[in-house]
Amino acid sequence: MNIHEYQGKQLLRDYGVAVSNGRVAFSPDEAVKAAKELSTEVVVVKAQIHAGGRGKAGGVKIAKNLDEVREYAKELLGKTLVTHQTGPEGKEVKRLLIEEGSDIKKEYYVGLVVDRATDRVTLMGSEEGGMDIEEVAEKTPEKIFKEVVDPVVGLTGFQARRMAFNMNIPTHLVNKAAKFMTGLYQVFIEKDASIVEINPLVVTGDDNVLALDAKFNFDDNALYRHKDIVELRDFEEEDPKEIEASKYDLSYISLDGNIGCMVNGAGLAMATMDTINYYGGTPANFLDVGGGATAEKVTEAFKIILSDEHVKGIFVNIFGGIMKCDVIAEGVIAAAKEVGLEVPLVVRLEGTNVDRGKALLNESGLNIIAADTMADGAQKIVELVG
Ligand code: ADP
Ligand code: MG
Repeated sequence: MNIHEYQGKQLLRDYGVAVSNGRVAFSPDEAVKAAKELSTEVVVVKAQIHAGGRGKAGGVKIAKNLDEVREYAKELLGKTLVTHQTGPEGKEVKRLLIEEGSDIKKEYYVGLVVDRATDRVTLMGSEEGGMDIEEVAEKTPEKIFKEVVDPVVGLTGFQARRMAFNMNIPTHLVNKAAKFMTGLYQVFIEKDASIVEINPLVVTGDDNVLALDAKFNFDDNALYRHKDIVELRDFEEEDPKEIEASKYDLSYISLDGNIGCMVNGAGLAMATMDTINYYGGTPANFLDVGGGATAEKVTEAFKIILSDEHVKGIFVNIFGGIMKCDVIAEGVIAAAKEVGLEVPLVVRLEGTNVDRGKALLNESGLNIIAADTMADGAQKIVELVG
């Protein structure tokens, strides 16, 4: 789960990690009010969306007076920002962070991730922070330093200071930077984050070390024990189809193709998508209905697939192991009747009660094309979609 920058900064503040002062605003009036309350000479108006790269896309504005704050707030609210992380469709700005302007001396990068190669939380840092960190990682990876954290001991003061030295933080600020990093590590662990990225971490003219940006990602499997984090969820930032799917415990991910897929088991779902690609088609989604799906769940899954206007055909590929083929067939029929199926539907069933399942489909009177194998089904749907 992702949260907004202003929410991440509040979390950091709660843990004593230095961030600049700021307030969230949902309207130009609120933006001006927030700027008045900050009463600093320079105020930064920042678009809040669940994506980075806002600076380069015009989503971070420096305002020198209240009129400019209002002007920028008006300009940004309702605007669709397209950054290198949003995809071409972009994201609409609905919230702003009104923040005091910092006198930046230098921008650094600090991040914490769970590194799968070492099975450890790893602190990363670089003196080449700011808006081009992706390029640094690609072209000069030696400029990014790492500290692998022992889970028993946690991030030690020594490691944090060594990182600060490696990042060339001015010597007299190394302790401040180290305190920042140990605080960051504490939030990361206590809130079960999977990524925390501070880009940039800045050193200011008045010798402060603080976070100017904050990106958090939390482990969904641990959210049950963090009600405070769950409350920060912004549904408007998520794909409505994915929200709907999560209600029914369906694993659904939107993709940009036109063949809707309904499959059971993540492995079979991946294989199905590969097979569709192999025959020249493009999947509209990844959808795993799981092992123990009921007819009701299948119906919901079907509705979600069909709510995607790009879907020009559906391929149902189910192996009935725990799941029975007749239950799948019932769900497919119920859904097709309920939503009024207008696109071609290819079904490949295999496994428990397959004969009963196929008979149900045949007797349904619906225009369903049966396939014998995965390859056969993929070819048929690709052909039908054209
Ligand atoms: P993004 O990573 O989405 O581009 P950031 O929050 O990192 O957004 O902001 C982009 C850039 O804007 C920063 O690298 C920094 O130079 C500038 N910036 C952001 N917040 C402030 C601030 N409070 N004061 C001064 N400059 C800022
Ligand atoms: Mg940033």
